Amino acid sequence: MANHYEVIVVGAGSMGMAAGYFLAKQGVKTLLIDSHDPPHAQGSHHGDTRIIRHAYGEGREYVPLALRSQELWDELEKITHHKIFTRVGSIGFGPEGESAFIDEAIASGKEYNLEIDLLTGKEVNERWPGLTVPDDYIAFHEHNSGFLYSENCIKAYRELAEHHGAEFSVNNPVVDIEVFNDSVKVVTDKGTFTADKLILSGGAWNGKIAKSLNLNLPITPTRQPVAWFEADESLYSTNSFPTFMVEVPTETSKAIYYGFPTFNGCGVKAGRHEYIDEIDPDTMNRDFGSDENDEGHIREFLERFMPQAAGKLNRGAICIYSRTPDGHFIIDKHPEHPHISIAAGFAGHGFKFASVVGEVLSQLAVSGETPHDISIFSINRPALKPQLETAGL
Ligand SMILES: Cc1cc2nc3c(=O)[nH]c(=O)nc-3n(C[C@H](O)[C@H](O)[C@H](O)COP(=O)(O)OP(=O)(O)OC[C@H]3O[C@@H](n4cnc5c(N)ncnc54)[C@H](O)[C@@H]3O)c2cc1C
Repeated sequence: MANHYEVIVVGAGSMGMAAGYFLAKQGVKTLLIDSHDPPHAQGSHHGDTRIIRHAYGEGREYVPLALRSQELWDELEKITHHKIFTRVGSIGFGPEGESAFIDEAIASGKEYNLEIDLLTGKEVNERWPGLTVPDDYIAFHEHNSGFLYSENCIKAYRELAEHHGAEFSVNNPVVDIEVFNDSVKVVTDKGTFTADKLILSGGAWNGKIAKSLNLNLPITPTRQPVAWFEADESLYSTNSFPTFMVEVPTETSKAIYYGFPTFNGCGVKAGRHEYIDEIDPDTMNRDFGSDENDEGHIREFLERFMPQAAGKLNRGAICIYSRTPDGHFIIDKHPEHPHISIAAGFAGHGFKFASVVGEVLSQLAVSGETPHDISIFSINRPALKPQLETAGL
C-alpha cells in the first residue's frame, strides 16, 4: 500500500519534526504532515531564537531532560550546516524571598550540581552594567546554557529526516483521524494515509485535532507578543550578555520576563511570559501592535531593568503558547489507544526540549516505552482529569 506508513506524525513543528528525524534515522517508514511548510510563522516556533536553561524554575524534574536536550542539540550542531546554539549563559533574578520561580531554579541547580553562581543584585549590576537590579534581589547565573536558533533547528531536523527517507506532506491540514485497534487513517485535503502508529504534535491546534481522537485535551492557546529593541551593543551583545528569565513585581502583582542579547544588530529581544490572552489559533490577530500592550509591557520592563536596551522598536511578532491547567507538558500515549502518542501543552518553555521530546516520541512509537522519566507529563495526572473526563475517558 503506497499510502501506508509505520508512523504518521501529525504536525511537523518543533516536536514533530524532531520525532520524524529520530524515527527516520532508525529506518522507520515515516510520513510527516503539516498544515504549513515548517519552519513557519503561524505556530509556536518562529522569531529566530529560544532560550535553553538547565536550572529550572518550573520544576527540578525538568533538569535531566534539559541536559539530555542540550546533548542532542550539540550533536545536531555537529552534523548540520545550520547554526543551532550559542552558549552565552543565562541569568535569573527576583526579589529575595518572593520569587518561587527563582528559588526553584537555584534549588534545582544545586540538586543537579549545575555550574551556577549565586549573586546579589549589586553583584549583577557590577558584572553586567546594562542591568539595573535592586540590591535586595537574589540572582543566579549559569554558564553552560544559552539560546537555540529555533527555525534553524527545525530546518536541520527536516533536512536530516528527509535524508534518512522520511516523507513529507506540507501545506496540507489534517481534517480527520479514524482510529482502529492497530492502525489509524488520517484524512487530509490532499488524500488519505494510513499507519500502524500515530504521533499527535499539532502545537496550538492539538485541542482541535484531538477531538477526532475522542479526546478533550485541556489545552489553552494564548497570544504572545515578542519584540526586538535597539540596544547599546557594548552592553547587551552576545560578547558579554546572557539570556535572562526573571520574576519582577508589576503595578498589580508580578510577572516573568525573558530575553536575549543582541547579535548581528537585531537588538535585544524580550517578552512577557504570561498566559492571559486566550485565542483561537485559526482566527488570532497576528498583527504586532494591534494591542498597545504588545510593545508597552515589554518596554516598561526594559526601561526599569535594562534602560539602554529600551531603544527604538526594531521588530515585533506574535506567537502562540499552549498551556495545560498545571503548566506541565503532556507527553504520553493516548489513554485508550496505545498506538497513538501525544505531545502537547509546551507553553512558553517547551522548545528547548524539542530534541529530547523527539527522541521520547520515537521511542514511544517504536517500543511503547522510553527510558526517560516523563511521569510528570502523564495524561492521566489529576490536574488534567476534570477536563479529560468530559470526553468520557
Ligand atoms: C513568543 C514565544 C517565546 C518562546 N520562548 C521560548 C524559549 O525561550 N525557550 C523555550 O524552550 N521555549 C519557548 N517557547 C515555547 C516553544 O517555542 C513552544 O513550546 C514550542 O515551539 C511548541 O512546539 P510544538 O511542536 O508544540 O508546536 P509548533 O512548533 O507550532 O508545531 C505544531 C505544528 O503542527 C502543525 N499543525 C497544526 N494543525 C495541524 C493540522 N490540522 N494538520 C497538520 N499539521 C498541523 C502546525 O502547522 C505546526 O507546524 C516560546 C514560545 C513563544 C510563542
